Amino acid sequence: MQSPLLELERQFFPSPLTRINEPFFTARKVELWLKRDDLLHPIISGNKWRKLKYCLHHALALKKTTLISMGGAYSNHLHALAFVGKTLSLQTKAFIRGEQPAQLNPTLRDLVENGMELEFISRSAYRQLRNFKAWDALPDLKSDAYWIPEGGATELALIGVGEILAEINQDYNVLCTACGTATTLAGLIKAAPKEKQLLGFAALKGADFLNTDVHALLKNQSGLAKNWQLKLDAHCGGFGKTTPALLDFIRDFEQRQQIPLEPIYTGKMLFALYGLIAEGFFPAGQKIIALHTGGLQGKRR
Ligand SMILES: *Cc1c(COP(=O)(O)O)cnc(C)c1O
Repeated sequence: MQSPLLELERQFFPSPLTRINEPFFTARKVELWLKRDDLLHPIISGNKWRKLKYCLHHALALKKTTLISMGGAYSNHLHALAFVGKTLSLQTKAFIRGEQPAQLNPTLRDLVENGMELEFISRSAYRQLRNFKAWDALPDLKSDAYWIPEGGATELALIGVGEILAEINQDYNVLCTACGTATTLAGLIKAAPKEKQLLGFAALKGADFLNTDVHALLKNQSGLAKNWQLKLDAHCGGFGKTTPALLDFIRDFEQRQQIPLEPIYTGKMLFALYGLIAEGFFPAGQKIIALHTGGLQGKRR
């Protein structure tokens, strides 16, 4: 890796694996552990660093000086990208979904403070941008620019995500992650031994298409060993939506475990996972590891 990237990586902390104790886990004879990627870095949130690392390596190798991407107004991906761009002395630009708000929210303010150029675009124009997946696929891309698709969903992202597994030095049966683009899930599937079971919890409604997206990211190679499954009913009404039950769960969890959660991804995953454990979804004796993907910056409103 290039030295600026190595230097950036030195800012990161190891992400601990923490046991979560609940009386009903004991009754069900399952163990739950949380891989705390939320503690990786004070600003670059959880899985976003995992996904960006090898993209950045590629962009630097091509001597690109501008990184361009897209996201919503609370995007953890853009938040990480803007900080990384500033740290690596690269220009950053982002297409933001929807109209420019009269007042920038804390996420957008951070983007601007880190020097990211923002362009607000209509929802339909935003959907169009989703068609461009390769680093050079964006129409009219300048020769010094490198395109990163929504959520950093690239094949290079899978390599960085795979490094999570090398850090897990305990045996386990099941690995769980929240899913937006399901790139993190695809990276875990690619790197995990085939006898492990993987569960993805979609943060958005009607996310059946993620099954196809995972296959595409894996180049359809994992078709035979179907050791993974997407849970499509953990969305609590849709992306960014919450229910009183979800918010109660998060509040109780944070108080009991002293671990912060956000309600978009990890909160929803754990809420659904607790439900699965309670209903006996996992056989007795299983050890489950869930990934805390960070994203706590998005909690500020
Ligand atoms: C982006 C994000 C996810 C989703 O990751 P994908 O790889 O897009 O599925 C999960 N959790 C948090 C906190 C995120 O910011």
